[in-house]
Order: sequence, then C-alpha cells, then structure tokens
Amino acid sequence: MKYTNKLLLTIIIWTFTLLTTLGQNVSLLQKQHQKLLANQTRITERIDWSLIKKYENKSELFELELFELNWDNKKLNPYTIEPNIGEKIDIRNYVNPVHTNVVNSSYGYRSKFGRQHYGVDLKASTGDTIYAAFSGKIRLTNFDRGGYGFYVVIRHENKLETLYGHLSRFLVKENQYVNEGDAIGLAGNSGRSTGPHLHFEFRYNGKCINPEHLINFETHTPLIGFYIYQNDHTITRKHIASNRTVRKHKKRK
Ligand SMILES: [Zn+2]
Repeated sequence: MKYTNKLLLTIIIWTFTLLTTLGQNVSLLQKQHQKLLANQTRITERIDWSLIKKYENKSELFELELFELNWDNKKLNPYTIEPNIGEKIDIRNYVNPVHTNVVNSSYGYRSKFGRQHYGVDLKASTGDTIYAAFSGKIRLTNFDRGGYGFYVVIRHENKLETLYGHLSRFLVKENQYVNEGDAIGLAGNSGRSTGPHLHFEFRYNGKCINPEHLINFETHTPLIGFYIYQNDHTITRKHIASNRTVRKHKKRK
C-alpha cells in the first residue's frame, strides 16, 4: 500500500506541474497576441490627416518644394539637380534694385582680370537703399571677404535667385519673406570692390544668367514677360571671341 500511495502522489504532482506549465504558456501566448492586436491600430488612425490637409492646397505644396528643397543658409549654390532647359520664368513683376540706371560693368569674361563676371555692376552710392527684385524668401545674408563682401541671396517664386553684393548693411534676416520692392539692404563697398556699387546676379538652379538678357537697366523694365532658360551661363572667353554681340558697357558720365 505504501508503494501505491507513493506512486499516486508522484502522478498527482507530475500532472499538476504539467497542467500549470501548460496553463502559464497558454496565458502568455494569449497576452502576446492581445498585445499584437493592440499595436495594430487601423491604418486610417496612423495617417496624419492635418498634414495631408495642409498640403492639399497646391500653392502650399509648391512652397514646400521651393523653399525647403535645396534650401541652405550657408552654401551659395546648394542645388544638386541640373537646371531645366526651357523653363519658363515669369519676370513681369520685376522691380529694379537701385534707383540709378547705369550699368558700370556687364556680365561675361573680363580679360583684364582673367575671370568671369557673373553679374552686372549697377551704379550705387554707399547707403543707397537696395530693393528686392521679386517677392521671395531670404536664403543667405553672408560675408565673403575676397568677393561679394556682405551679400544677400533671395529665392523667388518664379524659381530664380537674385544676389546683391558689396552691401554696407543688411535690412533683412535669413528665412524672412519679402515682397518685390522691399528694402533688403544698403549699398556699399565691402568685399573685393574698387568703389561703391551693387553687384547684381540672376541665378537659376545655381547657374548664373546674364541679367541684361532679362532686364533693361536703363528703363528698369523686363525685356520680356517670360524668360525661357537657355543655359546662358556658358558664356566664356571663347564665346565672347566668336560672338561680338555680347555687350560691354563702359561707365557713362
Ligand atoms: Zn560685379
């Protein structure tokens, strides 16, 4: 009898242990499953509808692309994409950055200095107000000791960027929005400059364009309503030698 009791007790203990372990495992699996289900929130709840709503408006999406992609407050040319040949650029709302109407020096290769001049030099005196050519957002307010001096770069809605060099003072801050004709700085003689003037550049996707292909600086008006981008920046010494139509202004009295 003693042996039978012992055997029965062992069987009962084993059975109890087995059932308990099984039960624990099952409840653990159930808990894990419930947790998984809880984490599977419906897909509609995961979408940020406020964000979608915000950019449903096409103009806001456009602004996001224009003022956030390739946006940099340090680099002069932050573009990593090639310019789009044939891009139609609306320049109808142009405002001249200076009150004067004299081009001291044109765009193109300067044989005297052996380098390319990437903009036009417009007559200006130190302290003259400099105006934004188009509406847009200030991308750079930088200092370039050996070149532009204090300069401002604005990115515009028409996809152009304009650069204003040799300033004596900034009147705007980076990432600020401006309208065409807003005062952005004061003219000066900072950087590599032989006298007070405004160095003025047009850029499209980081590539310089001859401003005199777009603007009549005597009348302060655009030459055309829409400018079609044609790779104008490729004017070099060779181009000037073979193409005498590239204008070279002398300072007028
Ligand atoms: Zn210049």
